[in-house]
Amino acid sequence: MLKDRFGRIHDYLRVSLTDRCNFRCLYCLPASEFPNNFKGCSTAADQMSADEIISISKVFVELGVRKIRITGGEPLVRKDADEIISRLSALPVQLVITTNGSRVNEFIDTFVSAGIKSVNVSLDSLEKQNFHKLTHRDEFDLVMSNIQLLLQHGIHVKANMVVMKGYNDNEIHQFIEWTRSAPVHVRFIEFMPFPGNHWRPEKLIRYADILSIVNEKFPHIEKLEDGPHDTTRKYTVRGHLGTFAVISTMSEPFCSGCNRLRLTADGKMRNCLFGKTETDLLSALRAGHSLEPLIRESLYGKEFQLGGNSGAAWGLSETETTNRTMMGIGG
Ligand code: SAM
Ligand code: SF4
Ligand code: SF4
Repeated sequence: MLKDRFGRIHDYLRVSLTDRCNFRCLYCLPASEFPNNFKGCSTAADQMSADEIISISKVFVELGVRKIRITGGEPLVRKDADEIISRLSALPVQLVITTNGSRVNEFIDTFVSAGIKSVNVSLDSLEKQNFHKLTHRDEFDLVMSNIQLLLQHGIHVKANMVVMKGYNDNEIHQFIEWTRSAPVHVRFIEFMPFPGNHWRPEKLIRYADILSIVNEKFPHIEKLEDGPHDTTRKYTVRGHLGTFAVISTMSEPFCSGCNRLRLTADGKMRNCLFGKTETDLLSALRAGHSLEPLIRESLYGKEFQLGGNSGAAWGLSETETTNRTMMGIGG
């Protein structure tokens, strides 16, 4: 069992398959700083091979991990993503994935045979032009048809929408309207600061504000029960097929129930999304060392909340909050 200093059991691992991506979302990888030919931060040799991903994941599973989320960068741009998904599905874990949705059609059979029951898809706009503006890619129709494809295969879809003032906050009602007839779970995510993403407090729309915006047009909101490790506050509008939630990392962090660990594509363990320390599990694996003491030591160093950033730290510039881009950490 993996327990931290605060008694929190950690049984959920987020594995990044790559720090590359075929999108350039404004809030994650601004196009100006990461041009189209940007090839990610690490070279192929620095990245975990499929065998190494499976070996390191197995150690976590032996130590009590019961859920693995595949993420990135965009996990489905990795050439051997198919093989990795299939091999991870053979471990005794609940396997889930976070993707920008653009390649789901190429992987739907793999998802089904891997027993994947839930997929998180980034969807920051329901308007084609705004989607293009936010992602720098003209893939709106493809992503929407891939969401349909997932639903047709009985896979639960959580649509992640990062809310940014002046960019897509005017679409909050439209997203709620979508849940009237679509059995999707929309998650409004508070915009978070990462290196290079031009985060400013003025661009943040807080949990309370999101709820009051929803309430303006949909007064019959019902609170749903949140699980002990949930990062979201869940709701539904009476009569709607779908549900919605807010991820309130910035205004009301949910760290007390944190059960998450992260493994970057270059094999570094991070004990918190906002932590500044990393433990090099890949080099240890390659040198034939045992990973367990390193994993336990990393977990022991985990701060209670937000990687040790105090609430007041959110007034700081984004480079002061953590040391990797979201794409480099793996969501
Ligand atoms: N490429 C995949 C995708 O977009 O779903 C997986 C990786 S992406 C880094 C994981 C999640 O992080 C996405 O839902 C994305 O919207 C979210 N994200 C990225 N940057 C963010 C930021 N600055 N604030 C809040 N959420 C962010
Ligand atoms: Fe790529 Fe996901 Fe970041 Fe968008 S949010 S740039 S799809 S990694
Ligand atoms: Fe866990 Fe860190 Fe995220 Fe808080 S900010 S929920 S401690 S990973």
